Amino acid sequence: MTGTEPAAHEIDTTRPHPARVYDWFLGGKDNYPVDERLGRQIAAIVDQGAPRAARANRAFMRRATRALAEESGIRQFLDIGTGIPTEPNLHQIAQSVAPDARVVYVDNDPIVLAHAGALLRGTPEGVTEYVQADARDPHTILEQAARVLDFDRPVALSLIALLHFIADEDGARDLVATLVDALAPGSCLVLSTMTADFEPENVRKGIDAYAAGGVTLVARSQAEVGVFFEGLDLLAPGIVSVADWRPDRAPDTGAPVSLYGAVGHKR
Ligand code: SAH
Repeated sequence: MTGTEPAAHEIDTTRPHPARVYDWFLGGKDNYPVDERLGRQIAAIVDQGAPRAARANRAFMRRATRALAEESGIRQFLDIGTGIPTEPNLHQIAQSVAPDARVVYVDNDPIVLAHAGALLRGTPEGVTEYVQADARDPHTILEQAARVLDFDRPVALSLIALLHFIADEDGARDLVATLVDALAPGSCLVLSTMTADFEPENVRKGIDAYAAGGVTLVARSQAEVGVFFEGLDLLAPGIVSVADWRPDRAPDTGAPVSLYGAVGHKR
């Protein structure tokens, strides 16, 4: 690192950051011109495709979290790659079902830390905690999360729109395996990640645009996503586009949503 580069805790506005580009897709205000520029470029590949995909992904998070709180009775949540707060946040969904739900959020981007206050306003009966850490360091995450979560009881581990920023060479499979290993029976893994299965050309353009902005993006096939769920039982409907995971209304027409979503249950 040279003296001119910002320190890790500082917000670097000279290059786009995934959390901030995603915030721009969702219509948020916590992004910078450099993020908006890349966001507009990606959104133009398929007219408004990326903002639609971001909204569909967020809706998947809400439906999956609600399903686990309501149907599986899970009361503990570990959400890694949380993103900039966007209401309703995961703890608001979980605590609307179970006010005593305990939630640990994790992200490595300083802008999420800067806005973490909104993630910490939960119910008086529940707990919300924020941990600044890197998903590639799962042992630290587990250690920190154990201050709030009881790993002898079920936990919903969510890695939502996170893993496409982590290549297999960077240890994506190992980090998922390490985290899932630490979970008690009855726990679940909720995951969404980008795929080129539905619209390979457009996704390739998106990957190239992110790469030009210095961000690595990985697309995974359905079979590659399945590897993350080895040893787990997939809940219906399996590994599908996030828009098709237990939709609560008819999906809007338009380009396919190029993110797979799935939930696996640990026996
Ligand atoms: N999970 C949220 C936000 C997705 S955006 C949602 O689906 O709505 C992806 C988030 O992952 C960003 O906030 C980014 O900062 C975070 N992220 C990317 N790489 C990470 C890493 N190695 N460790 C921790 N967080 C990471």
